Amino acid sequence: ATPTAVMVGTGVGASQGILIKGGQALENTHKVNCVVFDKTGTLTIGKPVVVNTKLLTNMVLREFYELVAAAEVNSEHPLAKAIVEYAKKLRDDENPIWPEARDFVSIAGHGVKAMVRNKEILVGNKSLMEDHNVALPIDAEEMLAEAEAMAQTGIIVSINREVVGVLAVSDPLKPAAQEVISILKSMKIRSIMVTGDNWGTANSIAREVGIETVIAEAKPDQKAEKVKDLQASGCRVAMVGDGINDSPALVAADVGMAIGAGTDIAIEAADIVLMKSNLEDVITAIDLSRKTFSRIR
Ligand code: ADP
Ligand code: MG
Repeated sequence: ATPTAVMVGTGVGASQGILIKGGQALENTHKVNCVVFDKTGTLTIGKPVVVNTKLLTNMVLREFYELVAAAEVNSEHPLAKAIVEYAKKLRDDENPIWPEARDFVSIAGHGVKAMVRNKEILVGNKSLMEDHNVALPIDAEEMLAEAEAMAQTGIIVSINREVVGVLAVSDPLKPAAQEVISILKSMKIRSIMVTGDNWGTANSIAREVGIETVIAEAKPDQKAEKVKDLQASGCRVAMVGDGINDSPALVAADVGMAIGAGTDIAIEAADIVLMKSNLEDVITAIDLSRKTFSRIR
């Protein structure tokens, strides 16, 4: 393609809300034959809501959520926000004062830990519980399996290393997700999903959206590793993500595409920014690049 064609291509992109950071980014895009999607906030809406709670002690719901919210209010994670929102609704109070949390720690990809009312509260996934030697009662296991089968994320809560409840959070697919995957398939482009979420939930979401290859329980550097593995097996990879935890993978990919509504760090790490946050624009960007680079040769 001539420099003029590249300029026209990036200009057309910009006019459609697809910010292409330079000619190389546009050029790399037409060779893409694998697209790696982050799950949360990329394939899914990214605004999870609490849909179910199972208490395993005689604690009442309000009291349970007060403790959980006290710990989670310190976290920026979308799951934490969902939990705090739900706790507010239960209190029927937009600005509640939660009990004080001390020694708050956020454990990336696992959950949170804090001291509330002199008790240690853990909120997170199975790995978080395993790492703290918290045994999972059979009721909790069942609730987790049930949630995962319905593509929900199960979150475990323990007080002083004893499981007191499990809650389920739902984050539905974006309306366009299935169609985007099926159009990519028709373009001979393979779709792969990577997520920090657990295998059960990840597989359910992947089945729903029509993706066959799934990598779950992946830490940020493992997301980037997966991109490199695919490259080593002959894939030209576009990575699509929205979160801080996607930025190493966005950098590792041949083309990093950030969802515009995502975090600044992801936007910075990306080669292309989908300003309108539409998943369809992954296809628009590839089409645009193919038109710019394939036709003229
Ligand atoms: P994703 O790649 O889907 O954005 P993360 O790597 O951020 O996922 O998190 C992976 C998993 O760790 C979550 O699905 C959840 O089970 C657990 N987790 C992380 N942060 C929190 C939190 N603040 N509260 C509860 N669970 C959490
Ligand atoms: Mg995400």
